[in-house]
Amino acid sequence: MRNRVNMIAVGDELLEGRTADTNSGRIQRALGQHAVQVAGIQVVPDTKEAIFQALDRTDVGDIVFLTGGLGSTPDDLTRDMVAQWAGVALPQDDAVRQQLEERWKRLGRKVGVGVQRQCQVPEGMAALENHVGSAPGLVGCLKGRILIMLPGVPSEMEGLLPAVVQWLTDHGHLPEARHTLLWRTGQIAELALVRKLDSIREANPELQWSWWLTDWGVDVRLAVEPDNKLGKAQLAAVEAPVSELLGHLVYSRQMESLPEVVGRMLKAKGLTVSVAESCTGGLIGASLTDQAGSSAYFRGGILAYADHIKNELLGVPEAMLQKNGAVSEPVVRAMAEGAQRQLNTDYALAVSGISGPGGGSDEKPVGTTWVAVATPEDVYTWAYRFPGDRPRNRLLTVAAIVDSLRRSLEFGPGQVPWMADDSWCRT
Ligand code: AMP
Ligand code: MG
Repeated sequence: MRNRVNMIAVGDELLEGRTADTNSGRIQRALGQHAVQVAGIQVVPDTKEAIFQALDRTDVGDIVFLTGGLGSTPDDLTRDMVAQWAGVALPQDDAVRQQLEERWKRLGRKVGVGVQRQCQVPEGMAALENHVGSAPGLVGCLKGRILIMLPGVPSEMEGLLPAVVQWLTDHGHLPEARHTLLWRTGQIAELALVRKLDSIREANPELQWSWWLTDWGVDVRLAVEPDNKLGKAQLAAVEAPVSELLGHLVYSRQMESLPEVVGRMLKAKGLTVSVAESCTGGLIGASLTDQAGSSAYFRGGILAYADHIKNELLGVPEAMLQKNGAVSEPVVRAMAEGAQRQLNTDYALAVSGISGPGGGSDEKPVGTTWVAVATPEDVYTWAYRFPGDRPRNRLLTVAAIVDSLRRSLEFGPGQVPWMADDSWCRT
């Protein structure tokens, strides 16, 4: 059986350009391993007509996710509308009420009036406790659909997803998982990556290939349906050759972020890192400290945006800045050395670039970015010319230098290029 999934994102803000619907994508990812077929995503306002219409478009047997509109303000209608649409009562649930009241007490706050509505559970549905916020998730079968209602706040919605997947699995609503393999790569262009795999792709027609851009690079995924025997054999046979082909480009084989991988490596080796950032304005430090436990390896950074700060706090000589400009090889080298010295770390990362839209010249066009990785042995420097606008160039800089740190930690000096491959944005 190949279950159909329907998503309904409810919220006026989603139709006014104020908030983008990220919940549907997160749900898809949570279900990704299972061979479900997403029939569609509907984004609808907080009105009775819209919610009814969206529900009417689903079929008997569908798994239907609704997110948003479970709050306690008058514009939150989802719970009431689902009960009305299915023709079931909406009684208060004592166990849920108690959970909510205990939550408020734990937070040292008065029990809010919102509890009156948030403890309502449509007849035929069950509540899943929300450990991040208040409104519980609601799951159950109504009108022949497998209905799942989740709060709109993305962190609450995500917090509930593991319990939802568990509930679906326990009740036999999810088909067997697909067989998949994943490679997460950094510092290579999408097309160049895909080309590398051409011959393996042609030789293995049973495999479903997908690749997509992420904040850290490009992901490649291979999948076969659970009942495809030949596909499974092909999948097993290509794993080693694909891994070998992609080699040092791969930072992980699982759904983990690049800074997570780098953090784990630094921790395992007992090494420390600091940053000296100009154009990225703290984004490298932010990405490295995004990880819980980062204090084990991240010491700090100097956000040296102005030239005189590069001079005063990092010891970059004034004459060097004058002669070469802030976006130059000697300056990033001196910045990395300065951070390594001042913050007393094994590694230091430094960047100085022209993110745009202004500030470019013939010699140094927008996107020109010098980076330096100071290691215990030496300082390595090189430049990129990123093709994006300001936000994109800044993110590409973060991804590139964090990946270079990963390569240097994984392979040591001289074994593989730490900087990007030729296909990437090298200058
Ligand atoms: P609600 O559960 O409707 O009270 O939603 C609370 C907040 O969650 C909204 O104000 C939005 O900022 C956010 N939100 C709701 N639906 C979505 C969605 N589909 N994707 C991302 N954010 C959402
Ligand atoms: Mg809402």
